[in-house]
Amino acid sequence: MPIRKLPPLLVNQIAAGEVIERPASVVKELVENSLDAGATRIDVTVDDGGRELIRIADDGNGIPADELPLALAAHATSKLHSAEQLAAIDTLGFRGEALASIASVSRMRITTRARDEQGQLAEAAATIEASGDQLSDPAPAAGAPGTTIEIRDLFFNTPARRKFLRTASTEFGHINELIQRLAMVHHAVAFSLTHNGRKSLDLSAERERARRCVAVLGKDLEEGLLAFEHVDTPERGGMQVWGLAGMPSLARATGKFQYLCVNGRPVRDRQLTHAVREAYRGLVPPDRHPVAVVFVHMDPAEVDVNVHPAKAEVRFRNPSAVHGLVLAAIRQRLLAADLTPSARMAERSS
Ligand code: ADP
Ligand code: MG
Repeated sequence: MPIRKLPPLLVNQIAAGEVIERPASVVKELVENSLDAGATRIDVTVDDGGRELIRIADDGNGIPADELPLALAAHATSKLHSAEQLAAIDTLGFRGEALASIASVSRMRITTRARDEQGQLAEAAATIEASGDQLSDPAPAAGAPGTTIEIRDLFFNTPARRKFLRTASTEFGHINELIQRLAMVHHAVAFSLTHNGRKSLDLSAERERARRCVAVLGKDLEEGLLAFEHVDTPERGGMQVWGLAGMPSLARATGKFQYLCVNGRPVRDRQLTHAVREAYRGLVPPDRHPVAVVFVHMDPAEVDVNVHPAKAEVRFRNPSAVHGLVLAAIRQRLLAADLTPSARMAERSS
């Protein structure tokens, strides 16, 4: 076959193939957009595990009506305008790819009412529809301040992907876990999650991050969580680590109860996982996984988030410093606590 340029729809569908694996990936991209837009409340509604409908409503800054077609264009973003900025990303999104790729494999409708930089609300909301390579003109609409995005019939035009979707309850499980992980780090934002008309998560905005963690992890774990915190000196980079270390007796058979986050982004990371494991060395058998929440905050220039299409992994500029700090913070907290359950009760009541 001769060499040809791919048509734009196919380019977007290929991009979607890398990032949009299942309904939970759509929810991730859209909720991250809501967080980047400064939302204080995010309501997620899904039907049939997200296969039929995904709706994300936020009260963030909104999208100006005249920018709507651009928001849906590939490689178009309001978050990144130079290579220097790429070296220190402080938003969750930056590729300008999500809306374009999701729209290329679904039926999308955006309704938004924007607030400008002075906080002035647009006179009316605007709406736009996109599907495959079809794009409607933006039209005036009724709508609350913020943005609501609806996705229907995910993968309707990519049957190979659609075939790989699992049952509604499996797909919903992925969405539920994702929202829990994001909600854990963004404690000041209220979240709700509704599946087939049933509300399964309802988290009010919290002032204290520990309270949000307990709301997600379950009240029954609260007694067994030890808060830890460590801030490096400015000369050493000023990295901060905060978290909750579960008592060794709470350790689980799976690592699912470890919540690792870097600069507001839930991540999978070998360094952090290893640091947690090492901190519990001798306290938890090698085949058990401690319950742990670890939030690391550092200068965005110290961590590269542009290494994984779904941004689930990051690369630290100084991995051993991060490892050392997390290990020390957890280990010290564990050693300072009396880990026998009865003594722990006494410690609490004293
Ligand atoms: P990225 O997040 O990488 O910029 P997206 O394709 O996810 O790319 O979004 C494109 C643009 O659309 C964003 O840069 C932002 O300006 C706008 N946008 C998307 N979702 C929202 C939202 N919920 N609220 C406000 N603006 C949004
Ligand atoms: Mg985005």
